[in-house]
Amino acid sequence: MDRRMISVDRWSDGSQAYFLTHLHADHTAGLSPAWNRGPLFCSRTTAKLFPFKFPGFRLSLLRIVDVGRWHSLSLVSPSSGLQTAVEAMAIDAHHCPGSVMYLFRGEFGYMLYTGDFRWQAASKRAQIGRTMLLNAIKNERVDILYLDNTYCNPSYSFPSREVAAQQVVDIITSHPEHDIVIGIDTLGKKDLLLYILRVLKIKIWVWPERLQIMHLLGFHDIFTTKTSLTRIRAVPRYSFSIDTLEGLNSMHPTIGIMPSGFPWAAKSVRANKNPFGSSSVRHRKASKGSKVVGTCTNPNVKTVEQYHQHIYSVPYSDHSCFSEILDFVKLLRPVHLKGIVSSSCSHVDPIYYLGHLLEKINHQGGYIGSLQIKREVEELKVSKPNLLLELVILLRQNGKGGVVDDLIF
Ligand SMILES: [Zn+2]
Repeated sequence: MDRRMISVDRWSDGSQAYFLTHLHADHTAGLSPAWNRGPLFCSRTTAKLFPFKFPGFRLSLLRIVDVGRWHSLSLVSPSSGLQTAVEAMAIDAHHCPGSVMYLFRGEFGYMLYTGDFRWQAASKRAQIGRTMLLNAIKNERVDILYLDNTYCNPSYSFPSREVAAQQVVDIITSHPEHDIVIGIDTLGKKDLLLYILRVLKIKIWVWPERLQIMHLLGFHDIFTTKTSLTRIRAVPRYSFSIDTLEGLNSMHPTIGIMPSGFPWAAKSVRANKNPFGSSSVRHRKASKGSKVVGTCTNPNVKTVEQYHQHIYSVPYSDHSCFSEILDFVKLLRPVHLKGIVSSSCSHVDPIYYLGHLLEKINHQGGYIGSLQIKREVEELKVSKPNLLLELVILLRQNGKGGVVDDLIF
């Protein structure tokens, strides 16, 4: 996407419109209460939570993008300098409260930016999103897909959130005398907490900041900040460590549960950090002797692992696993694909696993393969620069501006 027109989850100067997919910190880096670079588009729920995350922010800059409706913007084309119409549609990303993907259409063609997303094909919400997306695209194609590639690797296979949530409940019910501590962030894992509440009919302790968010989301009376009312506590991830769990166990038997699609201990080890606070390495990875709890029947799908005598890791993820990413890319048949995650220790360029699929799709669909265009443009750049300009104009007229911009800049 041409950042001189639109930026998504990027907040530096130079764009005409800024879009926010959701409020997780890695997508808001650069935003502050003093930010005032232009209109900021976001979902209705994100707008509701925004003042809590950025108190003092000029709320007149916020523009709400309702899910499932095209919103028109009049921007200036960086290539022609003329006014050009761009439309944007938000689609539920099923990731955390307020999270959406954005589908754009304009002189650049169709572009989809997923932000972080979970694409559980069997879930009703994903089915609604799928219908919405296909209806919006109709017979056109997605020229560029910006993809949440957090788990874009075949080794990442985990169950649905419902199955993982039941695994958490199983751990809790198999420790009836224990206190339970669950590591979460400020915004995510809402559905997990609601599942536990519904099945076990028990309140959950949350820290004051998280309680305010649950109130803003309309959940009153089911969460508490009084420890005497419940044995289940959802705590910030940063406070979840072996040291904490051992300290708690010196007072009362306590089990820690870390819900994540990425193996919790492995993640920190690969990042070259001690995952267990200041303790020396006293954990063990899941092995034959590890206790396994859960209902998932696919032997290839990750299930519960006990990393430490007090700690369980449950594969509950708000991101898509590899097979879900694969389904999504097959459904959309994009011409180009770019991963939006490049800095994590698990990063793999999605082209490595999905590139062959795109080429195959391009040929089957009758489109000119992107690599073929790229080769032709490279040759023209050297041999016939004037012809290159003609090709650019021709492709733009045929709605392939996004492709051309991508190749040239
Ligand atoms: Zn996120």
